[in-house]
Amino acid sequence: MSDRLILVTGAGGFIGGNLVASLRQQGSTRVRAVDIKPLAEWSQSFVDVENLSLDLNDKQNCEVAAQGAADIYNLAANMGGMGFIEKNKALCMLSVLINTHMLMAARKCGAERFFYASSACVYNGDLQHTADDGDRFTAPALKEADAYPALAEDGYGWEKLFSERMCRHFMEDFGLYVRVARFHNVYGPWGTWFGGREKAPAAICRKVIEAKLSGKHEIEIWGNGHQTRSFMYIDDCVKGIDLIMNSNIVEPINLGSNEAISINQLVDTVESIAGIKLKRNYDLGAPKGVNGRNSDNTLIQKYLGWEPGITLRSGLEKTYAWILRQYQLRESGAEGVVRDAEFASK
Ligand code: NAD
Repeated sequence: MSDRLILVTGAGGFIGGNLVASLRQQGSTRVRAVDIKPLAEWSQSFVDVENLSLDLNDKQNCEVAAQGAADIYNLAANMGGMGFIEKNKALCMLSVLINTHMLMAARKCGAERFFYASSACVYNGDLQHTADDGDRFTAPALKEADAYPALAEDGYGWEKLFSERMCRHFMEDFGLYVRVARFHNVYGPWGTWFGGREKAPAAICRKVIEAKLSGKHEIEIWGNGHQTRSFMYIDDCVKGIDLIMNSNIVEPINLGSNEAISINQLVDTVESIAGIKLKRNYDLGAPKGVNGRNSDNTLIQKYLGWEPGITLRSGLEKTYAWILRQYQLRESGAEGVVRDAEFASK
């Protein structure tokens, strides 16, 4: 049991909601959860948590959020999958206000520790224009030093890189305890699965479900399906956040799976879970991001003797089952956010 006050920002979203669930499970009795969305739209919320709807672009709201907090996990950001970040670069960059004001508030309010959620999108794009071997693009394992010289993903990635840097200087100049993890594609239950901000694993699960239930056995794939990525299951992400926050790792570190697969292979896996084969239609003009990317886990192994290890197949089985349930509930007319105790990671 711990009665330290812990603040989670972005708690109405995917990773933040799962982090709050995990902190409660581990015995934290005082958790403050903050998100810009009204509570009714949070993916998960808990009655024994102090839930606040605040716009953290605003400096004063950050101080309200940070007041009395010992640990701050800053996961709030305006973000989504490629479909969102390629078309909303200004909005993505404006998240710099959230992290800047949260760091200032952490310092002013005397927080002991600060965690920042960065992204694999900080990596130099030139390293990710990889060759297509006819089936998939090769996926270079990006090590932490590959973020410099900098050529981050335009918009979203530059904001993350700048905010990482801001974290570093708050640590060096003001002595704030800061930990930074670069997440590589996180997926799992409670992740956005429709509406335009969803990422590839959730989008493909939904499309396969739609095809199966509608009887129209076709699927649209963005790009030629050869793009490669690694995908980390949410439980590994939450565990990694905890390990990194409690570690001596002072530089930004990869938190991702190193099981790289192509989008076509991702579709194969979801089809196999669903027990169906679909005709694939490739939309070559759709947003598709870099060609290939994987997580180099040498450093996290060195520091922690651990790396994300939940297999894509087992994580996707749980994710597919969760999205199927949400889909059916939505189709049956259930309104608002579906809170399904069966899947809640409480
Ligand atoms: P998410 O969109 O589900 O959650 C982010 C939450 O932040 C949302 O609920 C949103 O309402 C909230 N938010 C946005 N602007 C806000 C503001 N002004 N004030 C308060 N709250 C605000 O995304 P997620 O997948 O849970 O991502 C959490 C963090 O991890 C983000 O910083 C994201 O950039 C980072 N990240 C995620 C992934 C991934 O694959 N999901 C990969 C790399 C990095």
